Amino acid sequence: MLELKGHGEPAGPRRDLGAPHGGAVRGGGRKTWLEARHEELSRLGRTPSTQPYCLVIGGGQAGISLGAWLRRLSVLTLIVDKNPRPGDSWRNRYRSLCLHDPVWCDHMPYIPFPDHWPLFTPKDKMGDWLEAYSLVMELVYWGSTECKSARFDAARDTWEVTVIKDGADEISLYPKHLVLATGMSGMPNVPVFPGAQNFGGVQCHSSQYKDGRDWAGKLCVVVGSNTSAHDICADLWESGAAQVTMVQRSSTHVLRSDTMMSSPGFLLYHEGSKISTEDTDLIFASVPYKILHRSAIDITKSIAEVDAKFYDDLERVGFMHDFGDDGSGVLMLCLRRASGYYIDVGASELLIKGEIDLKSGVSLKEMKERSVC
Ligand SMILES: Cc1cc2nc3c(=O)[nH]c(=O)nc-3n(C[C@H](O)[C@H](O)[C@H](O)COP(=O)(O)OP(=O)(O)OC[C@H]3O[C@@H](n4cnc5c(N)ncnc54)[C@H](O)[C@@H]3O)c2cc1C
Repeated sequence: MLELKGHGEPAGPRRDLGAPHGGAVRGGGRKTWLEARHEELSRLGRTPSTQPYCLVIGGGQAGISLGAWLRRLSVLTLIVDKNPRPGDSWRNRYRSLCLHDPVWCDHMPYIPFPDHWPLFTPKDKMGDWLEAYSLVMELVYWGSTECKSARFDAARDTWEVTVIKDGADEISLYPKHLVLATGMSGMPNVPVFPGAQNFGGVQCHSSQYKDGRDWAGKLCVVVGSNTSAHDICADLWESGAAQVTMVQRSSTHVLRSDTMMSSPGFLLYHEGSKISTEDTDLIFASVPYKILHRSAIDITKSIAEVDAKFYDDLERVGFMHDFGDDGSGVLMLCLRRASGYYIDVGASELLIKGEIDLKSGVSLKEMKERSVC
């Protein structure tokens, strides 16, 4: 269901007038847009009578998209995020990161990217877009605000949510609805390796990795073989690390970016497609999850044929490769596990050429002061 007929979003002929014509009363104190906006920003969530109807925890692209939609429906919505500015969840990631999906797949609701936008958005540009979008869509967004707890108060029929704003103010919020948009890839999963405390070099999890230039001339070991591991290996290599070794414990699905973009699912999103982004979203959302893998298996089979040489080359250097549990490839890996794959934007070539070393079929047993085994 997209809308209740007669109660659709205030778009086109139903848009706001913006400038009220006539009806002025001498001394009536009408507010300008700016005054009304400031009032809204300073009141929402601040008093018992100005509580948000919906509270969104997490202001990444998911929280911001939902916030924009709710705003259009006049649902009083507050978004809170522990980072200071909208877009920071992208800005905080490593320096070299660019989106691996083409721009056609990344549009936000209502304001598509302009048609000169780069095919693969650099992460800081994405951050700025999200910040600009939040401003233009008039979202109420509290940055530097961390959610600490939430419980449903059955007696009051509301949620009671505690947030800490600007590291100091503890504020209780009482929304009717609570949305957790805290991300699917943002929570670091940090393994503990025996002897880690004895290691004399720098250790960091991929979420703390920032810039390959800090590692120039160093011997580097990257543990893992999915997206971040590939990106980081390539960044270290490009930035002049003395040696880069990827440690691969189990197999990973790799999909060449060019091949992915010419596969049927992506072609639906392509800017040359006759089907709009919204309709394509609807097509995907309306295929029952139970059978979604079937078409993905067919697509993955044809990708395996097209890129047979590429997969042979990868396996020849010892890279352990698979096409997902049932051969359904990247789509189902993303939906089922949100991991287990790499969309190749160049690191595979470096592995094939031996520029990045590979130890596969092993996991880290121990870390010593000057070595890992
Ligand atoms: C290195 C990397 C590369 C990626 N590349 C791509 C890509 O190319 N294409 C793609 O589509 N996806 C990519 N992803 C996946 C990416 O995470 C998501 O597409 C996108 O960030 C999801 O948006 P989101 O709003 O769901 O989550 P996020 O952007 O992670 O936003 C979640 C927000 O919740 C906030 N939050 C969490 N807990 C709290 C709390 N307790 N209180 C307040 N705020 C909180 C966080 O600060 C964060 O801002 C990548 C992820 C990583 C880590």
